[in-house]
Amino acid sequence: ASTRTPLMAGNWKMNLDHLEAISVVQKLAWTLQDAKHDFSAVEAVVVPPFTDLRSVQTLVDGDDLKIAYGAQDVSAHESGAYTGEISAGMLAKLGVSYAVVGHSERREQHHEDDALVAAKAKAALAAGITPIICVGEGLDVRKAGDQVPYTLAQVEGSLAGFDAEQAAKVVIAYEPVWAIGTGEVATPEDAQEVCAAIRARLAELYDSSVAEAVRVLYGGSVKSSNVASIMAQPDVDGALVGGASLKAEEFAAIVRYQ
Ligand code: PEP
Repeated sequence: ASTRTPLMAGNWKMNLDHLEAISVVQKLAWTLQDAKHDFSAVEAVVVPPFTDLRSVQTLVDGDDLKIAYGAQDVSAHESGAYTGEISAGMLAKLGVSYAVVGHSERREQHHEDDALVAAKAKAALAAGITPIICVGEGLDVRKAGDQVPYTLAQVEGSLAGFDAEQAAKVVIAYEPVWAIGTGEVATPEDAQEVCAAIRARLAELYDSSVAEAVRVLYGGSVKSSNVASIMAQPDVDGALVGGASLKAEEFAAIVRYQ
């Protein structure tokens, strides 16, 4: 059995203002605490918009909640003339432990390429924040049967210049674009195929200890009703959840998939 701790991360995207954030995180924490959830057995992470982070920090610190929180993006730069960007150092000051980088919505809408994703992931690591590096193919690539080579090329590009010590600290989220927000979830076998290929490539690029350490998540229309079958796959170590993470009870049920 793997020693990797499963990770459930809820990407709220551009939803929930700071008051709504407080309400959702409170309800999530209460639901999990009532269920006597073992937070060291399955990590629960919320990923709100930047403007919610300070409120979430106050709540988590004030009530000593075991829920971790992340940012949806991070700048590749430390400081300076980058209007509108948020640095990893600023996020670290807010107690942020994870940063999603290279989400397909940012790759598409903001033309982020692998080199930029790698730079953002490195900036996160340098500030002690774990990057959740998103990869995954679109529908055309899937129809052509090229999902594995396509996704592995993204993994390599998004880890360009990483040494083994840095690579061992990242989380990779396999998110087939055709499954994001569509209600069309990949089959457990589809998820396993690509997640296992990612792990095998990490062993080739680095070594087996890096491959064993890195958590590989699946993302794309995960719900409480389908999470268990996906999590039963040996190379799937958690989920990056969009729509279903906006409701506290539903996300709590995903965290408690076992
Ligand atoms: C996501 O945004 O990362 C995602 C997986 O969304 P959804 O769960 O809504 O498909």
